[in-house]
Amino acid sequence: MTKDIRVRFAPSPTGPLHIGGVRTALFNYLFAKKHKGTFVLRIEDTDQNRYVPGAENYIKDALEWCKIPYDEGPGKEGEFGPYRQSERKDLYKQYADQLIKSGFAYYAFDTPEALETERKNHEANGKTFIYNWHNREKLNNSLSLSQNDIANKISSGEPYVIRFKSPQDEILHLTDEIRGDIKIDTNTLDDKILFKSDGMPTYHLANIVDDHLMKITHVIRGEEWLPSLALHVLLYRSLGWEAPSFSHLPLILKPVGKGKLSKRDGDKLGFPVFPLAWTDPKTNEISSGYREDGYLPEAVINMLAFLGWNPGTEQELFSLDELINEFDLKRVNKAGAKFDPEKTKWFQQQHLQQTDNHLLSQQFLSILKEKNISTTLDVDIVVNAVKERAVFVKDLWDLSHFYFLSPTEYDPKAIKKAWKEDTPNLMHELNRILDDISDFSEDNVSSIVKGWITGKEIGFGKIMMPLRIALVGSLQGPDLFQISSLIGKEETIKRIKNAIESN
Ligand code: GLU
Repeated sequence: MTKDIRVRFAPSPTGPLHIGGVRTALFNYLFAKKHKGTFVLRIEDTDQNRYVPGAENYIKDALEWCKIPYDEGPGKEGEFGPYRQSERKDLYKQYADQLIKSGFAYYAFDTPEALETERKNHEANGKTFIYNWHNREKLNNSLSLSQNDIANKISSGEPYVIRFKSPQDEILHLTDEIRGDIKIDTNTLDDKILFKSDGMPTYHLANIVDDHLMKITHVIRGEEWLPSLALHVLLYRSLGWEAPSFSHLPLILKPVGKGKLSKRDGDKLGFPVFPLAWTDPKTNEISSGYREDGYLPEAVINMLAFLGWNPGTEQELFSLDELINEFDLKRVNKAGAKFDPEKTKWFQQQHLQQTDNHLLSQQFLSILKEKNISTTLDVDIVVNAVKERAVFVKDLWDLSHFYFLSPTEYDPKAIKKAWKEDTPNLMHELNRILDDISDFSEDNVSSIVKGWITGKEIGFGKIMMPLRIALVGSLQGPDLFQISSLIGKEETIKRIKNAIESN
């Protein structure tokens, strides 16, 4: 029997989730759903100094808005909970102790001041201080001290950390599903702290222990964790556990292509880098979000999927279900993915076109309400007529206001171009013809008016352009007869009269 696929998204609640984090969550989600597996959310909050209130809720809200919900996690307890590391803190120490017993880790009593002095001395000699095999026997730890000294220090409550004892002179062969084989010389690794003097595990220990206990089969995370891969694989080996498979997703780069897209870039470069807007609890500073800027979650997800992945075909527009079907870690690139705000707008525009008119008109109705517009028109029809040119729901108003309000002013350029001396007479005549029409449907009005124009041999522009000015206020908008049939005969005639009087 094959093992059940289990993946996890393991953010630290240190602030709002950057879109890079959402991309990591998305790829985990897609992989899990494609393989009928489980998507776990684990909150890695062992670093209490960096904890930001509201960040965990933000993460959950963002996943929900993106429609990539987790199967297990805080509030959705499964058999592997709790899913917040702060609620699991008592279970990590035993593994640090196990590593000490088996000789893979050691106690280190060096004070922060002593380490700082080492760092400075090294720097003065143009060197970098690394705590590892080449100097650890000379530092203040259980490798250099006698059993007695160690026991005394611990029993007298002297603060200590537990460090991993990186192996010496070994070439590690690591595998990343995206990058292939990676070789690491263990002599370049430092002896990372696994357990801190405050009684909390570090990210490395807690992450490995939890991935093991939560039976995670595939770790899919950002490239910034690649330098930790060697340590993580060594930890699995030292604890006698089977390691999951690892995939490190490429960085998301600034639109110029150089440098990682950072949390601060968004408002500087004029586009959101967060899924939802965020108010910093300390400074009250507001960062913009895709949701509040009017993006559809479907567009944001589609855009994020293409940051580092492609389906290998020309198809660019994908629904979430299609992404699940097509997603394959083998098609994720190694190279950094350039973020393109214009392309994001394109995805938005395309997904808006695919959104059901009724859903859009529900959102548009609340915009109309804010503008104090009450209407008896079928807003679904209005939306259908104009949405082709809309990128956001909010654009619908600029594209359709004339369905709801008769023009109060007329575009001077349009007047200059199309409102001639004989226009008032022609418009009066048109009004008489319209008045006689009893079936004011689009097709009927269109054929009667067009027949009249043809009969007069005056050219369509002479009638259609002024009529457009009268109904819309400018030379823009969808089909005129569609507009007139929707607003009705009385309103059409009234608008033509207004235009004659005003121009
Ligand atoms: N807590 C880490 C983060 O904030 C998780 C990294 C990982 O997925 O291993 O991204």
